[in-house]
Amino acid sequence: MINWSSIDTVLLDMDGTLLDQHFDNYFWTEHLPLRYAEANNITEEEARNYLDKHIHNQVGSLQWYCLDHWSTLVDMDIPALKREVLHKIRTRPHATRFLEQLQQLGKKLILITNSHRAGLDIKLEVTEIDRYLDLVISSHDYQSPKEEQAFWTQLQEQEPFDPARTLFIDDTPRILESAERFGVRHLVCITLPDLNMPAREPSRFINVEHFDEIMPTK
Ligand SMILES: [Mg+2]
Repeated sequence: MINWSSIDTVLLDMDGTLLDQHFDNYFWTEHLPLRYAEANNITEEEARNYLDKHIHNQVGSLQWYCLDHWSTLVDMDIPALKREVLHKIRTRPHATRFLEQLQQLGKKLILITNSHRAGLDIKLEVTEIDRYLDLVISSHDYQSPKEEQAFWTQLQEQEPFDPARTLFIDDTPRILESAERFGVRHLVCITLPDLNMPAREPSRFINVEHFDEIMPTK
Protein backbone atom coordinates (compact mmCIF):
# COMPACT_ATOMS: atom_id res chain seq x y z
CA MET A 1 0.00 0.00 0.00
CA ILE A 2 2.94 2.31 0.75
CA ASN A 3 6.35 2.13 -0.87
CA TRP A 4 8.49 3.22 2.06
CA SER A 5 11.64 3.62 -0.05
CA SER A 6 9.97 6.54 -1.86
CA ILE A 7 9.32 8.45 1.39
CA ASP A 8 11.79 10.61 3.37
CA THR A 9 9.49 12.62 5.61
CA VAL A 10 6.47 11.47 7.58
CA LEU A 11 4.10 14.12 8.92
CA LEU A 12 1.81 12.88 11.67
CA ASP A 13 -1.32 14.29 13.23
CA MET A 14 -1.70 13.77 16.98
CA ASP A 15 -5.34 13.53 18.16
CA GLY A 16 -7.20 10.67 16.46
CA THR A 17 -4.03 9.56 14.67
CA LEU A 18 -1.19 8.80 17.11
CA LEU A 19 -3.49 9.21 20.12
CA ASP A 20 -6.98 7.92 20.82
CA GLN A 21 -9.46 10.73 20.14
CA HIS A 22 -11.61 9.32 22.93
CA PHE A 23 -9.83 11.54 25.45
CA ASP A 24 -10.82 14.70 23.57
CA ASN A 25 -14.36 13.54 22.83
CA TYR A 26 -14.82 12.55 26.46
CA PHE A 27 -13.39 15.83 27.70
CA TRP A 28 -15.53 18.10 25.51
CA THR A 29 -18.80 16.15 25.65
CA GLU A 30 -18.71 14.72 29.19
CA HIS A 31 -16.15 16.22 31.54
CA LEU A 32 -16.35 19.89 30.59
CA PRO A 33 -20.19 20.00 30.55
CA LEU A 34 -20.19 18.34 33.99
CA ARG A 35 -17.69 20.76 35.50
CA TYR A 36 -19.27 23.78 33.76
CA ALA A 37 -22.71 22.80 35.07
CA GLU A 38 -21.34 22.48 38.62
CA ALA A 39 -19.59 25.85 38.43
CA ASN A 40 -22.67 27.67 37.11
CA ASN A 41 -25.39 25.84 38.98
CA ILE A 42 -27.14 24.70 35.83
CA THR A 43 -28.02 21.23 34.52
CA GLU A 44 -25.55 19.24 32.47
CA GLU A 45 -27.95 19.41 29.55
CA GLU A 46 -28.00 23.22 29.68
CA ALA A 47 -24.22 23.25 29.88
CA ARG A 48 -23.96 20.87 26.92
CA ASN A 49 -26.34 23.02 24.83
CA TYR A 50 -24.34 26.15 25.57
CA LEU A 51 -21.02 24.49 24.71
CA ASP A 52 -22.39 22.76 21.58
CA LYS A 53 -23.58 26.08 20.20
CA HIS A 54 -20.04 27.48 20.45
CA ILE A 55 -18.34 24.29 19.26
CA HIS A 56 -20.39 24.05 16.06
CA ASN A 57 -19.93 27.74 15.31
CA GLN A 58 -16.20 27.55 14.80
CA VAL A 59 -15.22 24.05 13.71
CA GLY A 60 -11.87 24.10 11.94
CA SER A 61 -10.86 27.67 12.83
CA LEU A 62 -7.73 28.32 14.88
CA GLN A 63 -9.91 29.81 17.60
CA TRP A 64 -11.82 26.53 17.88
CA TYR A 65 -8.54 24.79 18.70
CA CYS A 66 -7.44 27.51 21.15
CA LEU A 67 -7.60 26.60 24.83
CA ASP A 68 -7.25 30.25 25.89
CA HIS A 69 -10.38 31.04 23.90
CA TRP A 70 -12.26 28.22 25.62
CA SER A 71 -10.94 29.15 29.04
CA THR A 72 -12.29 32.67 28.52
CA LEU A 73 -15.60 31.46 27.13
CA VAL A 74 -16.36 29.18 30.10
CA ASP A 75 -14.37 31.22 32.62
CA MET A 76 -12.53 28.09 33.76
CA ASP A 77 -8.95 26.84 33.48
CA ILE A 78 -9.28 24.35 30.59
CA PRO A 79 -5.74 22.89 30.84
CA ALA A 80 -6.31 22.27 34.57
CA LEU A 81 -9.65 20.56 33.81
CA LYS A 82 -7.91 18.39 31.20
CA ARG A 83 -5.40 17.28 33.81
CA GLU A 84 -8.29 15.95 35.91
CA VAL A 85 -8.90 13.25 33.29
CA LEU A 86 -5.39 12.72 31.92
CA HIS A 87 -5.58 9.00 32.76
CA LYS A 88 -7.71 8.75 29.62
CA ILE A 89 -4.88 9.91 27.34
CA ARG A 90 -3.39 6.97 25.42
CA THR A 91 -1.68 6.13 22.16
CA ARG A 92 -3.65 4.25 19.50
CA PRO A 93 -2.79 0.57 18.92
CA HIS A 94 0.55 0.00 17.13
CA ALA A 95 1.36 3.75 17.14
CA THR A 96 4.50 3.44 19.23
CA ARG A 97 5.86 0.47 17.25
CA PHE A 98 5.06 2.34 14.02
CA LEU A 99 7.08 5.38 15.17
CA GLU A 100 9.92 3.13 16.36
CA GLN A 101 10.15 1.41 12.97
CA LEU A 102 10.08 4.68 11.03
CA GLN A 103 12.79 6.10 13.27
CA GLN A 104 14.93 3.00 12.66
CA LEU A 105 14.45 3.45 8.90
CA GLY A 106 15.82 6.98 9.25
CA LYS A 107 12.65 8.80 8.21
CA LYS A 108 12.23 12.36 9.37
CA LEU A 109 9.24 12.37 11.73
CA ILE A 110 7.31 15.58 12.34
CA LEU A 111 4.20 15.87 14.49
CA ILE A 112 1.88 18.55 13.13
CA THR A 113 -1.17 19.33 15.20
CA ASN A 114 -3.90 21.93 15.51
CA SER A 115 -3.80 21.28 19.23
CA HIS A 116 -2.93 24.25 21.39
CA ARG A 117 0.51 24.08 23.10
CA ALA A 118 -1.04 23.67 26.56
CA GLY A 119 -3.03 20.59 25.47
CA LEU A 120 -0.10 19.29 23.44
CA ASP A 121 2.28 19.48 26.40
CA ILE A 122 -0.04 17.42 28.61
CA LYS A 123 -0.26 14.71 25.96
CA LEU A 124 3.50 14.55 25.32
CA GLU A 125 4.09 14.39 29.06
CA VAL A 126 1.75 11.39 29.41
CA THR A 127 2.65 9.43 26.25
CA GLU A 128 6.30 10.50 25.69
CA ILE A 129 5.86 9.96 21.94
CA ASP A 130 8.12 12.95 21.32
CA ARG A 131 11.15 10.71 21.92
CA TYR A 132 10.56 9.37 18.40
CA LEU A 133 9.93 12.76 16.79
CA ASP A 134 12.39 15.12 15.11
CA LEU A 135 10.07 18.07 15.48
CA VAL A 136 6.72 18.98 17.06
CA ILE A 137 4.70 21.77 15.48
CA SER A 138 1.50 23.31 16.80
CA SER A 139 -0.33 25.27 14.11
CA HIS A 140 -0.84 27.95 16.76
CA ASP A 141 2.89 28.71 16.32
CA TYR A 142 2.04 29.78 12.75
CA GLN A 143 -1.30 31.44 13.53
CA SER A 144 -2.82 29.20 10.82
CA PRO A 145 -4.52 25.81 11.19
CA LYS A 146 -3.55 22.89 8.94
CA GLU A 147 -6.72 23.61 6.94
CA GLU A 148 -5.02 26.74 5.52
CA GLN A 149 -2.25 26.88 2.90
CA ALA A 150 -0.42 29.43 5.11
CA PHE A 151 0.27 26.58 7.53
CA TRP A 152 2.04 24.49 4.88
CA THR A 153 4.06 27.41 3.51
CA GLN A 154 5.37 28.18 6.99
CA LEU A 155 6.12 24.52 7.73
CA GLN A 156 8.09 24.31 4.47
CA GLU A 157 10.05 27.44 5.46
CA GLN A 158 10.88 26.17 8.93
CA GLU A 159 11.70 22.58 7.93
CA PRO A 160 12.17 22.16 4.17
CA PHE A 161 10.67 18.88 2.85
CA ASP A 162 10.02 17.47 -0.59
CA PRO A 163 6.20 17.14 -0.88
CA ALA A 164 6.66 14.42 -3.52
CA ARG A 165 8.58 12.28 -0.99
CA THR A 166 6.38 13.07 1.99
CA LEU A 167 3.66 11.00 3.65
CA PHE A 168 1.01 12.70 5.79
CA ILE A 169 -1.29 10.77 8.13
CA ASP A 170 -4.36 12.45 9.65
CA ASP A 171 -7.92 11.44 10.60
CA THR A 172 -9.62 14.53 9.15
CA PRO A 173 -10.31 14.47 5.38
CA ARG A 174 -10.57 18.29 5.08
CA ILE A 175 -7.03 18.54 6.47
CA LEU A 176 -5.71 15.85 4.10
CA GLU A 177 -7.28 17.86 1.25
CA SER A 178 -5.37 20.92 2.40
CA ALA A 179 -2.09 18.94 2.33
CA GLU A 180 -3.00 17.62 -1.12
CA ARG A 181 -3.51 21.18 -2.41
CA PHE A 182 0.00 21.98 -1.17
CA GLY A 183 1.34 19.02 -3.16
CA VAL A 184 1.93 16.38 -0.49
CA ARG A 185 1.87 13.19 -2.58
CA HIS A 186 1.21 10.38 -0.07
CA LEU A 187 -1.88 10.76 2.09
CA VAL A 188 -3.34 8.31 4.60
CA CYS A 189 -6.62 8.72 6.49
CA ILE A 190 -7.20 7.05 9.87
CA THR A 191 -10.81 5.87 9.86
CA LEU A 192 -10.92 4.78 13.52
CA PRO A 193 -9.77 7.88 15.44
CA ASP A 194 -11.86 7.18 18.58
CA LEU A 195 -11.47 3.62 19.85
CA ASN A 196 -14.86 3.82 21.61
CA MET A 197 -16.71 4.68 18.40
CA PRO A 198 -17.37 2.77 15.17
CA ALA A 199 -15.05 3.33 12.19
CA ARG A 200 -15.90 6.19 9.85
CA GLU A 201 -16.79 5.98 6.18
CA PRO A 202 -13.67 5.62 4.03
CA SER A 203 -12.27 8.81 2.50
CA ARG A 204 -10.90 9.12 -1.04
CA PHE A 205 -7.37 8.78 0.39
CA ILE A 206 -5.64 5.56 1.51
CA ASN A 207 -7.77 4.46 4.46
CA VAL A 208 -6.53 2.48 7.44
CA GLU A 209 -8.05 1.70 10.81
CA HIS A 210 -4.71 0.88 12.42
CA PHE A 211 -1.00 1.40 11.75
CA ASP A 212 -0.34 -2.35 11.46
CA GLU A 213 -1.90 -2.08 7.98
CA ILE A 214 0.96 0.17 6.82
CA MET A 215 3.78 -1.02 9.09
CA PRO A 216 7.12 -1.10 7.18
CA THR A 217 8.04 -4.46 8.78
CA LYS A 218 5.26 -6.82 9.84
MG1 LIG B 1 -6.83 14.56 14.33
